[in-house]
Amino acid sequence: MAAYVGSMRLASLFATPLLLLATTARAQAPQPDGAGLERGVLPATWAESGDACATQPHFRLHEYNADFYILRQSGCTNYEKPFLYLIFGDGQALLLDSGAKNAQVADAVRDALKRWADHHGGRTPKLVVAHSHGHGDHVAGDAQLGALPDVTVVGTAPDAVQQFFGLHNWPDEATTFNLGGRMLDVVPIPGHERASIAVYDRRTGILLTGDTMYPGRLYVADAPAFTKSVRRLVDFTRGKPIAHVLGAHIEEARTPFLDYPVGTKFQPDEHALELSRGHLLELSDALEQMGGTVVRRAMRDFTVWPVSR
Ligand SMILES: [Zn+2]
Ligand SMILES: [Zn+2]
Repeated sequence: MAAYVGSMRLASLFATPLLLLATTARAQAPQPDGAGLERGVLPATWAESGDACATQPHFRLHEYNADFYILRQSGCTNYEKPFLYLIFGDGQALLLDSGAKNAQVADAVRDALKRWADHHGGRTPKLVVAHSHGHGDHVAGDAQLGALPDVTVVGTAPDAVQQFFGLHNWPDEATTFNLGGRMLDVVPIPGHERASIAVYDRRTGILLTGDTMYPGRLYVADAPAFTKSVRRLVDFTRGKPIAHVLGAHIEEARTPFLDYPVGTKFQPDEHALELSRGHLLELSDALEQMGGTVVRRAMRDFTVWPVSR
């Protein structure tokens, strides 16, 4: 009891200065600033069912925010179900990837551009179509898109990619691409495919990694190049705010270490799309452990999967 009374006295003795301190601290505490990033929202799930294929649109359009759109191709059209990213600057937009076969991507992109224009004074932006890499499930809509007005389609060969973005010291040096008041960083990451790039949007802190890192099977065609590229992304992202790492597919289930079989069209329990810089560190660590000989390894949120070139 005596100790209790003692501590009470002690408490009242310090009450005033402590209260003052707390008030001052509150007044001086920085407000949440979200790292200065433009915020956005990802859907709780991208999963669709196959029941309504007849009426299912070829692409689902999701506005991450007013100037950053995501399109996901429907499994009804192609089991690859790739993600396409549409980023808007002043008067210009970048579409990263044009989808897999069997879809009306030009209609979907035209609708998306119109939707953006309706909210931004009615002027449709010029469009650049570039690619996370040159595989067929990311370039199949190029011809359709190239037929639209004010569209530039970047070639898919390494030379064309390097020339368009001004990547002079491939693959060691990154470069920037200005969409008009919006700076993107373009980082060479060959290894899954020879012309693979990552794109970092400084405004939202989103890093787009194509097929190099996503919740699914990470096919490694060139093990030394892939290992170096993932290390390059780890170095590139060090000290930068990375809100999400978004790849081009989902093949994992929400069950850890488990991917859906190749060719699965509908994945009701699929993993979230978004990964983080932590996943990059985990991948880089696994590759470095493998010491240049990449072997198949199921990990919690993706699977490393060597393939022959
Ligand atoms: Zn690929
Ligand atoms: Zn792919």
